[in-house]
Amino acid sequence: MAPTTCAVVATLSLFPCLTSAFVPLNPRAGIDVVRRSAVARTRARRADGVSSMIFDYPPQGVRKDYPRPPLEETSQNQRDAASFSQAIADLPRTERPLKVAVIGAGLAGLSCAKYLSDAGHKPIVLEARDVLGGKVSAWQDKDGDWVETGLHIFFGAYPNVNQMFKELDIEDRLQWKSHSMIFAMPGQQTEDGFQRFSRFDFPALLPAPLNGLVAILLNNDMLSFPEKLQFGIGLIPAILFGQRYVEECDELTVTEWMKKQGVPDRVNDEVFIAMAKALNFIDPDNLSMTVVLTALNRFLQETHGSKMAFLDGPPPTRLCQPMADYMLARGGELRMKQRISKILVHDDKTVKGLQMQDGSIVEADAYVSTMPVDPLKLMLPEEWKQLPYFQKLEGLRGVPVINIHMWFDRKLTTVDHLLFSRSPLLSVYADMSLTCKGYRDDDKSMLELVFAPAKEWIGRPDSEIIEATMEELYRLFPNEMNRDGSGARLVKVAVVKTPLSVYEATAGRELYRPVQTSPIPNFFLAGCFTKQKYLASMEGATFSGKLAAKALADAALAETVPLKDGQAAMAA
Ligand SMILES: Cc1cc2nc3c(=O)[nH]c(=O)nc-3n(C[C@H](O)[C@H](O)[C@H](O)COP(=O)(O)OP(=O)(O)OC[C@H]3O[C@@H](n4cnc5c(N)ncnc54)[C@H](O)[C@@H]3O)c2cc1C
Repeated sequence: MAPTTCAVVATLSLFPCLTSAFVPLNPRAGIDVVRRSAVARTRARRADGVSSMIFDYPPQGVRKDYPRPPLEETSQNQRDAASFSQAIADLPRTERPLKVAVIGAGLAGLSCAKYLSDAGHKPIVLEARDVLGGKVSAWQDKDGDWVETGLHIFFGAYPNVNQMFKELDIEDRLQWKSHSMIFAMPGQQTEDGFQRFSRFDFPALLPAPLNGLVAILLNNDMLSFPEKLQFGIGLIPAILFGQRYVEECDELTVTEWMKKQGVPDRVNDEVFIAMAKALNFIDPDNLSMTVVLTALNRFLQETHGSKMAFLDGPPPTRLCQPMADYMLARGGELRMKQRISKILVHDDKTVKGLQMQDGSIVEADAYVSTMPVDPLKLMLPEEWKQLPYFQKLEGLRGVPVINIHMWFDRKLTTVDHLLFSRSPLLSVYADMSLTCKGYRDDDKSMLELVFAPAKEWIGRPDSEIIEATMEELYRLFPNEMNRDGSGARLVKVAVVKTPLSVYEATAGRELYRPVQTSPIPNFFLAGCFTKQKYLASMEGATFSGKLAAKALADAALAETVPLKDGQAAMAA
């Protein structure tokens, strides 16, 4: 975690009087006042929503989007992402453009192809399926309703993704929501019998990290002040030792770290189970602490880092197609339903070509695999298996997750935002009929829910998964869904299982993540499992593709890529 962020967390936690801008100086009286006023304020806001200079969000059931945050003004990472794009576009041109076979049309593959074309090369994207997007893919059912691989949320702290939207001129497709994190309070109901939510609202006028700290300090539903204090104290080593410490924490699970730092179990139970499930679909007993510290760092260090956005429709048409169109307009190629079955190699271990499932062979000057780590491991040529770079991949494997869509016969009372369910089987959910323009329905709700951890469930029949999900929904919608069938009726369900999704970020995995440049001079790797500082996410995938494109373009200029026709790609 960044020293500045941690320093302020701990300082405010250790010296409550420094929060006197919000509470009276007497610490005891202050705590009571905060507690009472915050609870009262929260109750009032929950019913009515708030629209003021400081807090701004809609009441339950009301749709409201917000303007794109001024990321360029507030985030150095955003400015760096723009400079990196420019540096790629400004690279000197080789004598002839390289023909580059990019395996996979997920975000990593499409990003790599986009930036390769910016650098003057010719990508040929080979995608096994008939739909773009990989883990963000989606398709229409027989009624024309969209079914997605996963409920996807974009963040202000996604500089390369936000830069991509800007470069494609599709920024208006992100629907930014109020700057809040909203957690269901299991078993608690409002006076009207609705599910009670606890909100962390980031005040508009304060910069990071103060906005995050005020959000944390003003929320007393989930953690008491002493618990926040102990968590703040636990973060002190991160303040003192910075990034080195964050990386060292990869050896510990979140739960182990909490114990070691003397943080009360309740902090884990109340906040970090939900956070771990949302970050990597696993429990804090397994998740590496580095993942949590990295996320906290990005969210607390950037003023709009934790601000969330929904794409305004299905990712394949609203995001992936524009990425593909960009490179197609610059001479790239996209070949769908082209599954690679084998990587063919020369005696010197360099890639000779790609054997396709239909028996044809694709040859190129260079190759980028953006396949997920599990199929990649199965496809490694024998000649590469002893190389430490590829051996390390054995330490990575995908984690199972299930995405569920539930269409109801009426409008449910939800919030126009992502909601952390804090329930045993679910991670996050959203009413997409409210949050997303492309799925808008004023009369009926469509809930999209992430079911995690899914290890015990991925092999079970859909009917059992749906039944278990409904049990959770009876708790989340206490006066709108009933076991006796009265209340909202489920009219349609789609269950999408991904047995091996993003790499499982258990403790100790960082060591196994490969960089984008492999020891094979004409073979590069991208994909969210490859090394980059944005975890296994859409940002990680997009950034990895960009890093691979830059590494390949640099190698071409340095003439280290052995070209298909035996010539070097001389700088023009
Ligand atoms: C349920 C769920 C929810 C998620 N929620 C979020 C979220 O809210 N925010 C976020 O940032 N991230 C989220 N993610 C993670 C995010 O989707 C991934 O990190 C990202 O999309 C991975 O992109 P990628 O390009 O690295 O891999 P992939 O998307 O897996 O792309 C790999 C591509 O390679 C293709 N391929 C594989 N084998 C072959 C072959 N032999 N020949 C040719 N092509 C092949 C595949 O078909 C695929 O298109 C979520 C993921 C899931 C599953």
